[in-house]
Amino acid sequence: MDANPGPAAVEEWRCDVVEGFLWHVGALSPHRHRSHIAGLSCVLIGAPALWGLAAEQQYVIGPMGIVVAIASTSSDYLFVEAKHFRTRRQCYAFDLIAIYTYVVTLSVVCIVKELYYFLPVVLAMILIAKFSVLEIGSWSFSCEAWAFRHTSWHVFVTCICMVVHGTIAQAASPWYNRSPASTLDWFILLCAVELGVQLVATMSWMAFHCKDLPSPIDGVKGCNMDAAVPVLSVPEGGSVLVKDVDPPSLDTPKTATMFV
Ligand SMILES: [Zn+2]
Repeated sequence: MDANPGPAAVEEWRCDVVEGFLWHVGALSPHRHRSHIAGLSCVLIGAPALWGLAAEQQYVIGPMGIVVAIASTSSDYLFVEAKHFRTRRQCYAFDLIAIYTYVVTLSVVCIVKELYYFLPVVLAMILIAKFSVLEIGSWSFSCEAWAFRHTSWHVFVTCICMVVHGTIAQAASPWYNRSPASTLDWFILLCAVELGVQLVATMSWMAFHCKDLPSPIDGVKGCNMDAAVPVLSVPEGGSVLVKDVDPPSLDTPKTATMFV
């Protein structure tokens, strides 16, 4: 890189980094659209973190959880139908980076708080959910299916955040190790049960429907690559309304295994 790159060169480099990152993590589903229920679920993700910050003085992990909710709302609601594909992809990158940063922060906080048993369990839950509860959104063949499945992913994230912030708040005597249990303990347990049920239900559904899975992406071959063309609605009469078309070269990563 030039020793003194101009603003245009810096901007180009920055976009290359964002798009290079996105190239490797996945592509945007053609069925993403502004759904009010999905938008509401984005905001709810921040509730456990807000509680942790306000009631339990979680000054590190609390703000990170709120950033995750803001990033999610930007990516999945505010800018989900942004005119320019680059804006949509940058918001999506912000969403992913916020989640990764939250997970790293969570790991550090758990080590500091000596939650040695909790940390691997919650990391495993997040990893499994990424490849099941989040992945299932990529199997959507309609806007309605995407809205429902992505909202259910947000519900999962909200519950896992409640378990995380609740457990960190009780680090000295966590809910899974306490007797008699308090009302908060039961609430956290309820969220933990929901996580288990959602994981099992999703993975069972995937097992029965794996034959419907779009083929692994090889360029645009074999997958549901209407994906290169974001068709957002089909009006009565059958003609297809296309909001805008992303350059296929940028929206069809060769190495991606999923759409979100
Ligand atoms: Zn989302």
